[in-house]
Amino acid sequence: MSETTEIYNSIVEKDSKYVMQNYGRYPIALDKGAGALVWDTAGKQYIDCVAGIAVNNVGHCHPQVVNAIQEQAGKLIHVSNLYYTDVQADLAEKLSQITGMDRLFFCNSGTEAIEAAMKLARAHSGKKNFVATEGSFHGRTMGALAVTSKEAYRKPFEPLPGRVDFVSYDNADAIADAIDSDTAAVIVEPIQGEGGVNVPTSNYLKEVREICDETDTLLIFDEVQTGFGRTGKWFCKDYFNVTPDIMTMAKALGGGFPMGAIASREGIVFQKGQHAATFGGGPLACAAALASINAIEKEGLVERSRIMGEYFVKKLEGLNREDFLEIRGKGLMMGVHVKDSCAEMVTEGLERGVLLNCTAGNILRMVPPLVITEEQVDSVVDIIGNL
Ligand SMILES: *Cc1c(COP(=O)(O)O)cnc(C)c1O
Repeated sequence: MSETTEIYNSIVEKDSKYVMQNYGRYPIALDKGAGALVWDTAGKQYIDCVAGIAVNNVGHCHPQVVNAIQEQAGKLIHVSNLYYTDVQADLAEKLSQITGMDRLFFCNSGTEAIEAAMKLARAHSGKKNFVATEGSFHGRTMGALAVTSKEAYRKPFEPLPGRVDFVSYDNADAIADAIDSDTAAVIVEPIQGEGGVNVPTSNYLKEVREICDETDTLLIFDEVQTGFGRTGKWFCKDYFNVTPDIMTMAKALGGGFPMGAIASREGIVFQKGQHAATFGGGPLACAAALASINAIEKEGLVERSRIMGEYFVKKLEGLNREDFLEIRGKGLMMGVHVKDSCAEMVTEGLERGVLLNCTAGNILRMVPPLVITEEQVDSVVDIIGNL
């Protein structure tokens, strides 16, 4: 047995003995990354079209993010939110600028951001219920799970906080019908990620906004996956010119470092003591996020996402594969609806040096780092063409 196989085997052995086997894993162990590339423990290189699932927008180990984390770690790693820090104030200001929202609350993940949004919606409105959409994914903790539609994720954990009404996505009338006098908020993804890269028709979010205004219902946009340039705008809401009351962020926020946040409109805020997170907005996460946002700005990655996304989709269309029923998305958030399951394409892609993801059964989802190069896109499409 070669030395690299032994290393891999020992990792798998430990994992299977000590780690809960709740993840279905592919047979590689990743070791390092740079830009849109990662390498496994055997030294094999992959072009990463998963990016930690829309996390590594600035690429793996972006030098500025690495530097910011290293510098901050030598200065102050953690302090309680009982005290101010310069990095948290700076990040809040920056996020307010790029989101167009007024107030921030910091946490550590997407699901935590959803929990905060739901609690804020209830506390602010004095109402209880939620309206969510079929195909939604908002996270795995109890509250976020309650607004996540997938039965298999929900069932073993019921009862979940309710009531939640699920209505078909991209159907504003269905939302109007579902809202009643005890609806605290409507929660939607501007593009559904996990549900299959579902892009709504252009007036959907605007109509939902109007319905929420008319019925005095709060509107929550879950931009956890669509944020930070992923779709070719800073946030996907910017395509539709709609402002939610509360918006959630996570995934790419910290440049790979775990972080979540919600942003709200002025006046829609937690009162003192209503919510908290020990690690929320910690110095390391804030420093990483500031560096990542700075890199996105400096390198023009929002625009680049839009342009490279168009290039990528055009190339995929050029394959003229009959089993590609639809190629959809915005920017570098792309989904290929394949005729049969895409699970095998992912396994074969892995062998040929590209990381792919299959969601909703037959949607090949591609969310590469926004720094992916034209040559790398060409290579990926070449490989996909032969899968
Ligand atoms: C990934 C995701 C979440 C959950 O984020 P976690 O950090 O995994 O808890 C919530 N909403 C959307 C839209 C997501 O894509």
